[in-house]
Amino acid sequence: MQEKGDAMHHVVIIGGGYGGLKALGVLAGKKGIRVTLVDRHPYHFLQTEGYDLIAGKIPFDSTIISLRSLCAGFGDNIEYLHAVAEDIDFKSKKVLFEEGEPLSYDYLVIAAGAVTRFFENIEGLRNYSYGVKSLRGALKLKEFFEQELYKRLESATHAKECYSILIGGAGLSGVEIAAEMQAYFNRYYRSNALACGSLRIHLVSGSETVLKGMHPSVIRAVTKRLNELGVILHRGSHIIKVQERLAILENGSKIPFDFMIFTGGIMAAPFIKGLKAEHNRLGQLVVNSFLQIPGYDEVFVVGDAADLKDRKGRRLPPTAQTAEQSGVDAAENILALIDKREMKVSDIKIRGLAIALGGRFAIIDTGKIRISGLPAYIGKKVIEKLYKLPLRFKAKEGFKRLSICANRSG
Ligand SMILES: Cc1cc2nc3c(=O)[nH]c(=O)nc-3n(C[C@H](O)[C@H](O)[C@H](O)COP(=O)(O)OP(=O)(O)OC[C@H]3O[C@@H](n4cnc5c(N)ncnc54)[C@H](O)[C@@H]3O)c2cc1C
Repeated sequence: MQEKGDAMHHVVIIGGGYGGLKALGVLAGKKGIRVTLVDRHPYHFLQTEGYDLIAGKIPFDSTIISLRSLCAGFGDNIEYLHAVAEDIDFKSKKVLFEEGEPLSYDYLVIAAGAVTRFFENIEGLRNYSYGVKSLRGALKLKEFFEQELYKRLESATHAKECYSILIGGAGLSGVEIAAEMQAYFNRYYRSNALACGSLRIHLVSGSETVLKGMHPSVIRAVTKRLNELGVILHRGSHIIKVQERLAILENGSKIPFDFMIFTGGIMAAPFIKGLKAEHNRLGQLVVNSFLQIPGYDEVFVVGDAADLKDRKGRRLPPTAQTAEQSGVDAAENILALIDKREMKVSDIKIRGLAIALGGRFAIIDTGKIRISGLPAYIGKKVIEKLYKLPLRFKAKEGFKRLSICANRSG
């Protein structure tokens, strides 16, 4: 095993999400390379399973993987640094932090993801709605929602009150959360046989359909399922104003709510905005076809933080699958630079969609094959397991290594 030292190439990865961890997986164990994974949180949040957490199907620890243990599991030359990146000095090749010493790199992967975009022109949106891209946001919603159900269970006065959750934005995450929560409500309502007021989910889409841009037959199938569950769809009108417990749409309709979630847009993680490089209108960093920042060959950007395009120059949606593929491509290009080989043009493909639609129902669409219902639900769970089981296994190994070291030094 090679010792840590000056002769080694130091790769810094900012962000232990889907893109960052795929890059780490490619680089780990490679001779002559040491990696520092930096993340503001000590865990990898499985955002794609957020809908299950919110609907109380899985405990919160099922949606996280410890980054410290994971890095220990990847081997000696991988380190985890719990820190918030604040800026990057591209000229002197240093990452600067909110607190602590700057960190020098030979190669850098920026994989800091995105956050919910609370549009400034929608008055009140930021004050009265919540995002679900973070573990904190997802837990907040889950807690609020369980408390409300509990109040209705305990108190005769509350029991007959109507309770509604408004979801602004009918993209993938909005649709999944709406379906899952409505299914939860329906199950709860039936199992408690309560004289309970209605529990409804309102899903607002600014476009004429949900899942704008997807294949019409997928849109039809998803809309049918949402209708069967009882989700109230509001289409073709944007939210223009939000007040405490009331959303106002462009067409004049007013929707009262008890809790509002906004999933209508994302923007690159805040620190990315301040970097001295080219950005698109979402604040994502513009990259070349090798995923490098033009002018800085040693800096790569992946996942939601990057303005990713396919080989035909079409913009790619911010998804876990694009983040993962870009993470692999960037890491392989770093290895090519180190070995003085030619880099490969990134070739990210959308391999299909798996949409959870409440209970044990999902739709999987690969463009050629579509399945729905229980088989698709099982398929989605298999996809999720195939992603997380190897990570859990590594984290477990890492945890053992860390415990042995702690016992020795103790
Ligand atoms: C509810 C929901 C459901 C979804 N479902 C699907 C789905 O079914 N399929 C799919 O493909 N996609 C889905 N997505 C989208 C998918 O989760 C994202 O596209 C994916 O997480 C992007 O990966 P990433 O690596 O770019 O960023 P992330 O996974 O967001 O990771 C970014 C990391 O960077 C860290 N970070 C940020 N700023 C800093 C900083 N300044 N310093 C240090 N660390 C920092 C963060 O803590 C985080 O760990 C869903 C998203 C949501 C919210």
